[in-house]
Amino acid sequence: MKTLIKSSLTAICVMALGSGVALAADTVNKKCPISGKAVDGSKSVKYTASFCCEKCVAKFQKDPTAHAAKVAKAEKGKCAFSGKAAGESVDIHIGVCCGKCEKKVKADPGKFLAKLQKK
Ligand SMILES: [Zn+2]
Ligand SMILES: [Zn+2]
Repeated sequence: MKTLIKSSLTAICVMALGSGVALAADTVNKKCPISGKAVDGSKSVKYTASFCCEKCVAKFQKDPTAHAAKVAKAEKGKCAFSGKAAGESVDIHIGVCCGKCEKKVKADPGKFLAKLQKK
């Protein structure tokens, strides 16, 4: 019995390590933009933001939710800060509380990114 528990624990550890990359996705928000509940770290929606240069990328990455509305409204292929043609992109992850919200956010990530705007 003891051996059985030990081996299944090992299996769980290996599984956790294997999916560690996906779980580690840093979400830019702590609360689900739909329900307002705490974000489930294993569920998020990717959003790719585009910028003209490394400087703008750094500015955004430093505090994504401070620029969320601007970035969400940026024209496709244009930098949200300068309006110049974008050559750099950053993937951010919008955290959600459950699979239902994940689907809703996935349908229109920009709309929900804008809702994350820091006031
Ligand atoms: Zn720039
Ligand atoms: Zn939810």
